[in-house]
Amino acid sequence: MTLAKKLKDMGVVGAGGGGFPTHIKIANKCKLVIANGAECEPLLYNDKYLMENEPEEILKGLELVMQSTGAQKGFIALKKKSLTASEKLKKLIAEKKNITLFLLEDYYPIGDEFILIQEITGKIVPEGRIPPDIGFLVNNVETLKNIAYAEQGEAVTKRTLTCIGEVQKPSIVLAQIGTSFREIINLCQPTLSDFVVIAGGPMMGKVVFDLDTPVTKTTTGILVLARDHPLVLKKTLKIEYIIKQSKAACCQCSYCTELCPRYLLGHELYPHKIMRQISYGLDVPQEIIKNAFLCSECGLCEVFACPMELSPRIINQKIKENLLSRGYQPEFYSKNGKLREDQQDRKIPGSRIINRLRLNKYEENTRKAALSVVKTNSSCVEILLKQHTGFPSYPIVKIGEMVNEGDLIAEIPPGKLGARLHASIKGKITFMDEQRIIIRK
Ligand code: SF4
Ligand code: SF4
Repeated sequence: MTLAKKLKDMGVVGAGGGGFPTHIKIANKCKLVIANGAECEPLLYNDKYLMENEPEEILKGLELVMQSTGAQKGFIALKKKSLTASEKLKKLIAEKKNITLFLLEDYYPIGDEFILIQEITGKIVPEGRIPPDIGFLVNNVETLKNIAYAEQGEAVTKRTLTCIGEVQKPSIVLAQIGTSFREIINLCQPTLSDFVVIAGGPMMGKVVFDLDTPVTKTTTGILVLARDHPLVLKKTLKIEYIIKQSKAACCQCSYCTELCPRYLLGHELYPHKIMRQISYGLDVPQEIIKNAFLCSECGLCEVFACPMELSPRIINQKIKENLLSRGYQPEFYSKNGKLREDQQDRKIPGSRIINRLRLNKYEENTRKAALSVVKTNSSCVEILLKQHTGFPSYPIVKIGEMVNEGDLIAEIPPGKLGARLHASIKGKITFMDEQRIIIRK
């Protein structure tokens, strides 16, 4: 059986946040595979934990992908400061001529696939294209670990994530998929009675108010914060307010452009021009507006660059949503990008981002004491039918049916892009609708 078939059967998707089905991603030939252990979101440590504790599986996953795609060369990329992980990986690859460890500086957003490729190979992914278009494949280290497990016939039923912030026990959590945020936060002991959660990292994550939200295959982090934390207030501003604020306060200083990592790669993305353009309305697909599609939504402009605390990121996001909903498909005339001259001087260290986000105290806590490692033991899980890129899966079980951990419970719709889902605990199917399957022990 091919690797792609095994990964499809075992429900492997991109674990770095994207959730793209891995059996599709590895289907084509490529020249080079990169294991992405850069983990650029502040306060997330799960990739570092995996590289320290399961380096053999990560390496095995990387080699499997290299064999399957015909890649001659592999890189494992991680930050220089991840000393234990780099020592372990260095020993493991000592005899391997085709795999290299690549140590990265700690700047944001170093985990962005485009930036990573440029750092490692000097090549730039052209505008509107993706890494496989130029023969490169980037896989997050947890995805590679899941690939190694899937090859042995083990389905994706667990997720490694970081639970941090207003908790007494900041932890790496080995969570059964479908476990509620509430259960995880209780295990980590919240320090506040009233709080909200940012799911994912503080830069690109979203505010979640419902603590019954379940962990999915792409949940990288649970950041517990007070409702009035500046980051929460910023992330919950209404779009109408953001647009009004942009029209009133943008002084056209162009700092958002000068620090934009995709602009610095040579792409024609000028967020300050887009901010100027929105004065004429969000629905004008002019050349400048079209370039919003080049935005990776890294958030550097809103968190660090803009002196007026405006959000070019959100404006770009809304422009994309708006144009896509009207059936607009941007076309880019692929050209080789050229690094802007001062790209090197405009890299923003991770520590300055943490300062700006006002999350220093949580980072200091993790420096003083090692994170705990917590495993969930859920009596009830809610498996979402859409937790990947593509179409929702459809249930193949019935209410009342008993399932074991690892049993297939939902299938990809025929001919569509999607991923299979498996039971993450042994128990009885007690509820099902178009969005979820609930299993109770
Ligand atoms: S979010 Fe801002 S800084 Fe990041 S790519 Fe988009 S425009 Fe550039
Ligand atoms: S940095 Fe802020 S104020 Fe300056 S051009 Fe960009 S959005 Fe406008």
